[in-house]
This record gives sequence, C-alpha cells and structure tokens, in this order.
Amino acid sequence: MSASTTAADTASDLKSLSNACVMMIDDEPIMIDVVSSFLEEAGYRELVSVTDSTKAIDAIHSQRPDLLLLDLMMPGLSGFEILQMVRNDPQLREIPVIVLTSASDSDTKLRVLELGATDFLEKPVDPSELKLRVRNTLAFKAYRDRLAYFDPLTGLPNRKLFLSQLASGVRRAQRENQVCALIQLNIDRFKTVNDSLGHRGGDELLKLVANRLQSVVRMLDRSAQVGEGLPGASVSRVGADEFSVLLPDIAGVDIAGKFARRFISAFTQPFQVEGHELFVTLSLGVVSAPQDGDTPERLLNNAGAALDQAKHRGGNGYHFFASNANASALERLTLESQLRRALQRDELVVHYQPKIDVRSGRVVGSEALVRWQHPDRGLLSPGVFIPVAEEINLIAQVGAWVLRKACFHASLWAKRGLGSVGVAVNVASPHFRDGRLLADVQQVLGTTGLPPDMLTLELTESVLMGNNTDTVATLKALTDIGVHISLDDFGTGYSSLAYLKRLPLDELKIDRSFVSGLPGDQDSAAIVRAVIALAKSLNLKVTAEGVEQRSQLEFLRTGTCDTFQGFLCSQALPLDQFVALALRIQSQSAQSAQDSALHSAAEVAALI
Ligand code: C2E
Ligand code: MG
Ligand code: MG
Repeated sequence: MSASTTAADTASDLKSLSNACVMMIDDEPIMIDVVSSFLEEAGYRELVSVTDSTKAIDAIHSQRPDLLLLDLMMPGLSGFEILQMVRNDPQLREIPVIVLTSASDSDTKLRVLELGATDFLEKPVDPSELKLRVRNTLAFKAYRDRLAYFDPLTGLPNRKLFLSQLASGVRRAQRENQVCALIQLNIDRFKTVNDSLGHRGGDELLKLVANRLQSVVRMLDRSAQVGEGLPGASVSRVGADEFSVLLPDIAGVDIAGKFARRFISAFTQPFQVEGHELFVTLSLGVVSAPQDGDTPERLLNNAGAALDQAKHRGGNGYHFFASNANASALERLTLESQLRRALQRDELVVHYQPKIDVRSGRVVGSEALVRWQHPDRGLLSPGVFIPVAEEINLIAQVGAWVLRKACFHASLWAKRGLGSVGVAVNVASPHFRDGRLLADVQQVLGTTGLPPDMLTLELTESVLMGNNTDTVATLKALTDIGVHISLDDFGTGYSSLAYLKRLPLDELKIDRSFVSGLPGDQDSAAIVRAVIALAKSLNLKVTAEGVEQRSQLEFLRTGTCDTFQGFLCSQALPLDQFVALALRIQSQSAQSAQDSALHSAAEVAALI
C-alpha cells in the first residue's frame, strides 16, 4: 500500500469513527451516564452499556462492539476476569479494551496491560483525555481492520473478509430460505498480460478490472436489471487475478447467470494501461447456495470446478456448476464419438430461417442453421454440438458440409419461384482460420452454380479478431469473388470502430440480446439505435436477430433497420417447410404491394 493511499483511507475511516459501537461495562450507573455524555458530546452515536458484569460476555458476543470501556472493580465478575475472558475468546480477542480504574498504583496498571488491555484511563475521567484515547484507539482499530480485511492494491475486501461474508450469506440462505449465489472469476491469460506489461502494468490493470467489476455490481438490482444495486452484494479480490462476487438474496441462480453475462459484456470495452489499449476477457464459475453446497467450503470447491470448466471451454464465458459433473463428463465423451460418425451417417440437417425486409415484409434471404438428428436424443441444437465440433477439430468439416448443402438448396429456390432469396451460412473461427474456407467456397459455388452474391458468410467479432492482415486478406479474397460478409451477433464482441472500417463487410446483425429488450429497455433501445447509425455511417446493411414481438418490429421500422429474423415470422424450418412458407409470404406481399404501400409493422406482421 502506498503511503498516500494509507493516509487517505485512514482519514476516511476517521470520519466514520463516530459510527463505531462503544460498549461501557460498569456497575455504577452514574459513571455510565457521565462517560456517555462525554462521548455523545464528542459525536459518538452508538453507545451501549452493561451494568451487570455477569452479562457482559454475552452482550459482547451479541453486539460485537468496536471498543470496550471496562471498569475493574465490579461485583459478580471483575474487570480483570472479563478482560481475560475476552482475550481468550478467539472471536472477541481483537476487540480493543480501555480499562477505567481509580487505582493509580503501577501494579494494577502492569497487570491490566499484561492481560492485554489496549489502554487505560484513570477515574475520575477527564473528558478531553477520554475523547482522545477513544478516538486514537478506534482509529488504530479501523486502520488495522483495513490492513487485515482489505486488499491494499484494489481496496476490495480480501479473502479473509470474503470468507466471513460467504459464511454469513450461506447461513442466511439456509435460515431465510433464500438463494445466495457466488461467482468465482478470473482474468484469461493474465500471466501473459502481466509478463508483457510488467508488474506495474499488471497492478494497474488489476485496479481497473476491480473498478469495472464493482461498477457492474453497483449498477444491477436483484433481477440483474439496471437499477439501484443489490443490497449486500460484494466483489472481493481473493487471489492474484481471482475475484469473488457474492450475490445474497436473489430470485434464483439464473439471475447470477445474468450477472455473469453483464460482466462479460462490460469487458468487451478495452482497458487503457500505460498507453496501451488492452482487451481482457473473463472466465466465470457460477454456484448458488444451498443448491450447490450448504457450507462455504463446498460452495467454493464447486465454484472452482465450474470456473475450471469455463476455462476449459476456452475462456470468455461462464459455466454453472452441475452437481453431476462426472455424469456430464461421460455424456460429453459419448457425444464426441457420436459426432465423429454423424457426418458419415448423414445425421446433420440444415434448417432455414427467413430473413424479412422490415418495410415490404418480403423474404429477402435466409440463414442456414445446422441441427443434428441424433439417433437417441432427437433433434439437437447447434449450441450443444458446435462447441464440441470445434474442440475436436471437426468444425471445418461440418462447416464445409453445411456450406455445400445450403448452396445446393439455395440454387434451387429461384427455380421454385422464390425470387432472389440468398442464403447466409455461419462460419466458425477454426474454419475461417485454417485457410481452406476460400477454396471450399469457390468449389461449392462452382458445383452448385449458385451466383456468389446469393451467398453470405456470417462471421462473429471473435472470428475477425486476431491476426489482422490475414483476416483482411481472406475477407478481401471472398468479397472479390462476390460473396457477402456479415458480422453476426454484433455488440457482444470486441469491435472498435476503426477496426470495422478496415474490414470489407456488407452487413451487421444486431445480437438478439439487444433486440429482446426492445422497445421498453432504455439501454437496449439506445444500443440498437447506435448500431443502426453506425452501420449506416459505414454504409452497411443492418439485420436485427431474434425479433419476437410486433412492438420490436415497430421500433426497428421507425429506425432504419433493413431486415429482421425471428420467431415473429418463423423459427428455422426444414427445407420443404421453409420453401412453402417463403412462397406464401412472397405471394401475399406481392398482393398487398399491389393493393397499397405498406405502412405499419402490424401490416408487415400480418403478411407473415
Ligand atoms: P446465430 O448465427 O446468431 O443464429 C441465430 C440463433 O438464434 C439460432 O439459434 C436461431 O434459431 C435463434 N433465433 C432466431 N430467431 C429467434 C427468436 O426470435 N428468438 C429466439 N429466442 N431465438 C431465435 P440456433 O439455430 O440454435 O443457432 C445457435 C448458434 O449456433 C448460431 O447463432 C450460430 O452461431 C451457431 N450455428 C448454427 N448453425 C451453424 C453452422 O452451420 N455452422 C456454425 N459454425 N455455427 C452454426
Ligand atoms: Mg448467424
Ligand atoms: Mg446471431
């Protein structure tokens, strides 16, 4: 801790000393009255008195005062005995004790000091001396507490304080039938950052990270919505680059998941450290009491296991602890081997979701979304198996297969009367990076005869991050042959404006998480408006994903969003159903275009 931080913190502690709880133990009520009035005059507000010395220890346990003013000569228990009991009690031993005594002989004073008194005052008490000794003792205690319970670098509670907060959170959750969640998080690849920035830079980054985590926690209420904060929530620094977030009294563990997502999106903004712009991501493990553990130890262990899972998946994500972790490991292994065979056995299928023009209501494109028709488990969504395919290096093969199917299907649509409806195919990072994408695309366009401008490749921001020259070169080569490039899930990743400008993009797709808040949520509305404005300024088309309600479509129509996808129109459908739906929409919109120009979202919605 630097000298200036210490001084500043001690000063602020001094200001709050008047909130300290001072307990007076004296059998003479008159003495208590006198001392109380002096202390009140000095601004202390929380004064507690005990005149029956036999009740003193119980009272100290229940009130946990910051300071004891202890008389020595009392019937029942003497001050010596009480002092001894306090010093021998592990929970009370740290409480400062000022002994009040009329005995001025040095033997008594020595004995009292030997027993562990912090200071003593002679009776009759001199008001100025009382005030000074009380103030100094409390100030010292506050300083000592700060050192013992707070991390000097970030000012956050340290592991010790966190553990005691966790213990009381777990107790309260059990007693009051509440859910108390714990998010254990650390910085991905912190060691690399630390090695390249040096320790000073690393420390600076940790401080900024601590601030950002705290500002997220301060901003969110018990539903993880932007609001007044969640009482009792805290962020602690529990290891070098490890932080713990405690969320007492939330509705369920899914709320903790929302907090985790908010942390992740708060970290999409870079940090400025010693003149460098740094992007930092987090891995988070989420658990809740009592479900995932009824003791702090169990909860911590399980949070650690969940955090390891999140890391294992490549970081920049969160993972809930699943109490049947072994069962899920086995399930995962089985899934891997089945997925390897799925391609040969032709178990993958492509579904299509229509992409609708916001104004005319016409189908102007489609997105190919892969599914796995699993022999035992039914239709599996890509969220279940695409990450697995990525990990076992199967993703380029899956990607090439989807590309072939989708282009082949789309090449037939014009003949079936759909008009010019293209197809968008999602491309995973390894497929983009392994250098075969361009060759795959050229080959597929050649064999299917699909015009290049009928094919869009959807890439996420994380795919485009990284090796800049290669990325731009590959994208240029693709756009040179006429293929369109769309930036998927926009807003959830890292893009900076300067970066976007350099890429040959055609479209931004606004992530579903922003659309879902429309039109009510102010933040979502502001973000969507900003993304649309940004896209227009870069001359890009904009598609909104995940439109489920008319009111969302209405919002998009008043902006200048071009197209949308979502359950309001349709989920992704098997080929035949997609073609049938698209034909129906095209003929209805052609009819109403003849009748009149379309004006409202309701009319567009009515078409689909
Ligand atoms: P994505 O590319 O952002 O696709 C949009 C996802 O949102 C799809 O989920 C779609 O079914 C879903 N969705 C569409 N409209 C709505 C709506 O109104 N409400 C809600 N709640 N959801 C909606 P799906 O099909 O489960 O795909 C999830 C992700 O899996 C895709 O996100 C994409 O990243 C990946 N994926 C899908 N197919 C492929 C593929 O062929 N290759 C690769 N590499 N990734 C794929
Ligand atoms: Mg997509
Ligand atoms: Mg998307």
